[in-house]
Amino acid sequence: MSLKEVVNTMTLSRELLEILCCPKCKGGLILTEKEDGLICKKCSLLYHIKDGIPVMLVEEALSLQR
Ligand SMILES: [Zn+2]
Repeated sequence: MSLKEVVNTMTLSRELLEILCCPKCKGGLILTEKEDGLICKKCSLLYHIKDGIPVMLVEEALSLQR
């Protein structure tokens, strides 16, 4: 198993998802269907997952509000 595979496995593991929380409201996040992002419903923000690593920055997050 390559280091990248280990990182990807760890990143998308349930344990890590439980640790991850929204940096803005500290609330829980939901993994998208494609597993390419994490959504905070409270803030209507989508945090991207780049190369298997979640980008937990409010400035980098995509707003889902219309
Ligand atoms: Zn939030």
